[in-house]
Amino acid sequence: MERMREIVPGAPAAEGEIPLAVPEIGDVERGYVDDSLRSGWIAYGPYVDRFEDAIRSLIGVDHAVGVSSGTAALHLALLVAGVQPGDEVVCSTLSFISPAFAIRYAGAHPVFVDAEPEYRQLDVEKLAAFLAEECVRGEGSLHNRGSGRRIAALLPVGILGHPVDMDAVSALAAEYGLPVVEDAAEVLGATYKGRPGGSLGDVACLSFNGNKIVTSGGGGMVVTRNAGWAARARYLATQAKDDPLEYVHGEVGFNYRLSNPHAALGLGQLERLPEFVEAKRRIAAAYEEGLGDVPGIGCPRQAPWAFSTYWLYTIEVDEAAYGIGSRDLLGRLLDAGIQVRPLWQPLHRSPSVRGAQAYRCETAELLHSRGLSLPCSVSLTPEDQARVVDEIRRHARG
Ligand SMILES: *Cc1c(COP(=O)(O)O)cnc(C)c1O
Repeated sequence: MERMREIVPGAPAAEGEIPLAVPEIGDVERGYVDDSLRSGWIAYGPYVDRFEDAIRSLIGVDHAVGVSSGTAALHLALLVAGVQPGDEVVCSTLSFISPAFAIRYAGAHPVFVDAEPEYRQLDVEKLAAFLAEECVRGEGSLHNRGSGRRIAALLPVGILGHPVDMDAVSALAAEYGLPVVEDAAEVLGATYKGRPGGSLGDVACLSFNGNKIVTSGGGGMVVTRNAGWAARARYLATQAKDDPLEYVHGEVGFNYRLSNPHAALGLGQLERLPEFVEAKRRIAAAYEEGLGDVPGIGCPRQAPWAFSTYWLYTIEVDEAAYGIGSRDLLGRLLDAGIQVRPLWQPLHRSPSVRGAQAYRCETAELLHSRGLSLPCSVSLTPEDQARVVDEIRRHARG
């Protein structure tokens, strides 16, 4: 039988297979979930408040609103930041698809900016060039010269556990009068110049999907220092309900609230975040040790201003130097029972947002063709990791 090529986030691997990244659920989480189920609070409930409080204190912002997914959090973040139908939002192209979708949910259009080659994060120099060269200022707003649309927000995405150079993004945001919506779904536990991922924009989104460093089985959070925005996100997430008793809805809302059992699982996981970050960094160091000298294999780097969680350990395969390309290596690793995945198709290539503007996105295309994510579950054993390293070394030229 052909091996399953689809990897379901948060699903167990087949017998004998080394999974890409599976959650590690312990007694703390089981206890909280059991308590939440026994309590009778099955939809909204006290664990939601506790989970929000824990995120607030971890990230150091005043407001956190638990929602049903990271994508929902992004959608709400864009709405509270003032994004309107017909606007444009400038977004990292090298990302999981969610920000592109969330921008479309808001009725706006994404404009994509490239990644830089060193840390694979949003290229802020290209972002600056885009704003300076492709946009025009007028009457308190900024417009895209080509499309004529208003630029409504910047949406930098910290990817693979490493933050974006956010001071540079914030400086541009201030210069052009734009809000920053930080997609921090992949940088929970990471820091930028000592400041936590999720605290770096005007509003940020977190995800607790099955493959994230902390999972609630499905969930997300909107975090912000802006009390008005938080209140509006909460209102929109709870069906825009105006009256606690009567069914009065002031506008079109969403059913985006997080459930109590999900929050219980998320809270238990969050208490173990330091342990998970330590495990991810230990795994990264072992890969660096095992693969750092293989010609044509590029290991992820950490910027001097960053503390990376190495959430999803992703190498670059340079075919000319290594001998075979990333997709050939991917096939061989899958055949050997080792789950790996290519890096995402850059968003400007996604058929889902066909026709969106892409600003000089060549580095993201190169990273996409070379990128390969390796097994890095926090429970990965040294023996299994050595098997991955051996398999990669075995296919190297010479
Ligand atoms: C996972 C992820 C999201 C969305 O989270 P969901 O909870 O799966 O909706 C958003 N942005 C990025 C960069 C992600 O990796």
